Amino acid sequence: MDTIFQKIIKREIPADIVYEDKDIIAFNDINPQAPIHILIVPKKIIETLNDINENDEKLIGRMFTVAKFLAKKNNISETGYRTIFNCNDDGGQTVYHIHLHLLGGRALNWPPG
Ligand code: AMP
Repeated sequence: MDTIFQKIIKREIPADIVYEDKDIIAFNDINPQAPIHILIVPKKIIETLNDINENDEKLIGRMFTVAKFLAKKNNISETGYRTIFNCNDDGGQTVYHIHLHLLGGRALNWPPG
């Protein structure tokens, strides 16, 4: 069964899409944890970070290039931001299609808890 992110990729449900290319889509998180909270999602179905392999290295790298681009576009490059992959239950993953969180626009706490 498709995850919510696959449905967004297929345009079956709406999202506030802020970036798209042939491999990646990015949209605003529906429950933002910071003034800027964007999810950067590969179109390829990969359930968790445990499922990536060497063939995905370029794609994963590209996700960070998109994060950098979107940070600049949202004027948080200089103030700072955080990028996060959550993996499985203890990591707080709720959608089983890998995604990179881009958070910024406020000072973020550390450790994240
Ligand atoms: P994670 O907990 O790392 O798996 O992150 C999943 C994220 O997806 C959460 O921050 C949710 O708020 C977000 N989310 C869930 N459904 C949607 C949706 N329909 N549109 C945008 N973001 C969503």
